[in-house]
Amino acid sequence: MIIEPKIRGFICTTAHPDGCAEAVREQIEYVKGQPKTDGAKKALILGASTGYGLASRIAAAYSCGAATLGVIFDKPASGSRTATAGWYNTAAFERFAAADGLYAKTLNGDAFSKEMKEKTVEVIKQDLGQVDLVVYSLASPRRTLADGATVSSVLKTIGEPYTNKTIDLKTNTVSEITVPPASEQEVQDTVTVMGGEDWEDWITALRKAGVLASGAVTVAYSYIGPEVTHSIYLNGSIGMAKKHLFDTSLKLGRLYPDLKSYVSVNKALVTQSSAAIPIVPLYISILYQVMKEKGLHEGCIEQMTRLFHDRLYAPNILLDAEGRIRVDDYEMQPDVQEAVNALWEKVSTLTLEDCCDIDGYWDDFYRMFGFHFQTVDYTKDVNPDVPIPSMI
Ligand code: NAD
Repeated sequence: MIIEPKIRGFICTTAHPDGCAEAVREQIEYVKGQPKTDGAKKALILGASTGYGLASRIAAAYSCGAATLGVIFDKPASGSRTATAGWYNTAAFERFAAADGLYAKTLNGDAFSKEMKEKTVEVIKQDLGQVDLVVYSLASPRRTLADGATVSSVLKTIGEPYTNKTIDLKTNTVSEITVPPASEQEVQDTVTVMGGEDWEDWITALRKAGVLASGAVTVAYSYIGPEVTHSIYLNGSIGMAKKHLFDTSLKLGRLYPDLKSYVSVNKALVTQSSAAIPIVPLYISILYQVMKEKGLHEGCIEQMTRLFHDRLYAPNILLDAEGRIRVDDYEMQPDVQEAVNALWEKVSTLTLEDCCDIDGYWDDFYRMFGFHFQTVDYTKDVNPDVPIPSMI
């Protein structure tokens, strides 16, 4: 079939297999051109199909030469529906890895579930013996608990409503949005979904099964960002979950003293998850404008390559005063933030083109789903049915 983008709200309901393969190929090529990292040998990546998790898998494989086991939650093509972008990304990653002689297997299912943890342990026992890196990169709007109940996360403030500018991505217009405060229950649920509980469950399950190597590294991802996003992010419901995630990294370090457990604070980037947060996409498109102008812009793969090479596996790991890894350092540079603030004041529908890298935002958005690649012929008939070679 001919596959075209179909945008609904802040997602695209179609994905292009050749474009997704091209996105993965570009990321692999980038890492191949960077210095190698003496790091992970056998990595488990949770949430490995898109965004930071996919880039972590690529960095582990191509910077460290690691065998990678990915856990994803994606859908294959069915009838007239294409597969999800994460499915095509994973299929492509596995093909490239096989061609380059790298072990790569993938489990598809709900990473929050006990069954998925058990299955993963079995595969590690069978194929790898142990893993020495666990990346926790899940971003999900909901989580099904062991008793079958499903809880949802919300992107709301805490205490007071917060009003600021936002962008309507459908119409490319800037307007004001008021984000309401979350109830106590909603905050608690957001912590349950996006906090560290499931990360701890994974580490405990791997540890109990004896498949986590002594001296292993585990890392989960967080965000801090500037003042304009604090009410909705850092001090909002998602921020409470991220606080729990960080507390969990400390707890894991106490529970398992031979485990190196970190939270890495990453840069704001267009991913399927960040597109859903009010205010943040406008901030991201201004940030892109400023960081590209200053030659400081990075995507997921540049961030994760730097995380692996210059932070996680550097001889002396650089942490901030709280004990977190920071690869949001360029984003948070004072000159970058001053320039962003000045543009934030100025931005309106009329000045959007001048203040924001709106084309860059949209380009990244389409590329997440395999569109907008010069090297792909989108008029060509393609088979949407693409197998993931190792699918378990
Ligand atoms: P993303 O949506 O691209 O990736 C999330 C991944 O989790 C996907 O591969 C998805 O399939 C997987 N996933 C979701 N639910 C799952 C489940 N139940 N079982 C298995 N897999 C599941 O988002 P992202 O932006 O790459 O987010 C990854 C992490 O990075 C999150 O913790 C996020 O908060 C953090 N982060 C993101 C940004 C940003 O700007 N995008 C900045 C800093 C930190």
